[in-house]
Amino acid sequence: MLTITQAPQGAVQVKQQFLITGTASTSYAGRKLMLTIDNQYTAPGPVVAADGTWQLNFLFQQTGNRRLKLAIDKDSVELPLSVVTTLPPTPRLRFANLPQQIPSGQSVMVTGSADGYADGTALLLRADKQFELARPTVQAGKWQAAIGFHQTGKRLIEIIGSGQDRAQVELQVVAAPPRPPRLRFTQVPKPIQAEEIVTIGGEADSYADGAQLVLRVDQKYELARPLVQGGKWQAPILFHQTGSRLIEIIGSEQDRAQVTIDVQAGDLQIVVRTAWNSTPTPAELPELKPLRITIHHTALSGSPSTSASLATDAERMRYIWRSHVNGNGWSDIGYHYIIMPSGRIFEARSDKKRGAHDVVNDGWGIAFDGIYSRATINQQQFQSAVALCTKLCQRIGIKDPVTPIPTPTADYGTRNLPPICGHRDRVATECPGSEGGRTVRLADIRQGVKAKL
Ligand SMILES: [Zn+2]
Repeated sequence: MLTITQAPQGAVQVKQQFLITGTASTSYAGRKLMLTIDNQYTAPGPVVAADGTWQLNFLFQQTGNRRLKLAIDKDSVELPLSVVTTLPPTPRLRFANLPQQIPSGQSVMVTGSADGYADGTALLLRADKQFELARPTVQAGKWQAAIGFHQTGKRLIEIIGSGQDRAQVELQVVAAPPRPPRLRFTQVPKPIQAEEIVTIGGEADSYADGAQLVLRVDQKYELARPLVQGGKWQAPILFHQTGSRLIEIIGSEQDRAQVTIDVQAGDLQIVVRTAWNSTPTPAELPELKPLRITIHHTALSGSPSTSASLATDAERMRYIWRSHVNGNGWSDIGYHYIIMPSGRIFEARSDKKRGAHDVVNDGWGIAFDGIYSRATINQQQFQSAVALCTKLCQRIGIKDPVTPIPTPTADYGTRNLPPICGHRDRVATECPGSEGGRTVRLADIRQGVKAKL
């Protein structure tokens, strides 16, 4: 047996002495090894010591691919060596731009140099002498890897190459500063139609579940107060007015996002309140959770004609408003919508606020302007009522506007009534006309809506 235990790796410098050590079977103790150079020249080699070890100091006089062979009896060992005038640089790893502190939970790129390493050589990046972080490969004498830590504290980072070549650096993982909250729109329906309920939504980075945001339109009107759930928020929105609308989601003074939505006219057109009245519905009125629709007539004489202009209809709306607010002493018009003989639908009281129209007031009130004790609504009014009731039923999920269901009333206890009912079904009154609603075609309205749902 004959082995080399230590020798230069690959290359040696010409005329520079180097050491080769090895072991041999102790049966060779005291004997001399035979040295052959380049399979040509032989020379006496080192003597095997009593413990079987041997060592040889040697140098080459000439460069080139050289070969040393050591032999004794039938045992031999060979060592190919490249003899060069200057040695290639010793492989050496270094860290370049490692920051001294990194925030926990964040990924940072560490880079370094790898002198004397071939492209593609795999290195090992390790933490605290045990955890592998990455295996970067050398490219053009450089390496890089992304690292990140979840726990704070001091860390020993090592880059390890061949043999004993490694570099170390210490870094401090510090608690990450809280990220600023951030809101975004990601779900933006566009364009949308007036009177059409759509869902708008987005993301809310760094907001806790249950955090309340404010959704605002045109920097003025609040649309909703969506709650954050799993870093997201969403809210149903609905516009009466057409045109370009600026939508804002607001978390705090500093954190808000904006988007513009184009609202187009849909198949249902409603004259918005701002078109006839500069006074909004008082904000302090209680919120409405609408369950049904009650049909009325205004029971006021002097309705505009079927061919009235918008201005005339708007003037009539102001008259009704004065009659309810100044005459009756109410906060606003009692109904949510009024349908003029022209067929125009006017927004009256805000549809988000409880009305003052059927005593129970658990739904929207729609009134035909005029007195329909004997007269019958015209076809324009009928079609407007069907279109409006259809949209309102869709908004609150009424799928069957015809079949009676138990319904609270003011004067008759609980009654089985269709979700679209008449004022007189709940209160002892003639409204919206005599004969059980025939004059305002209640049954036809229900059937018309049912056909459209
Ligand atoms: Zn009524």
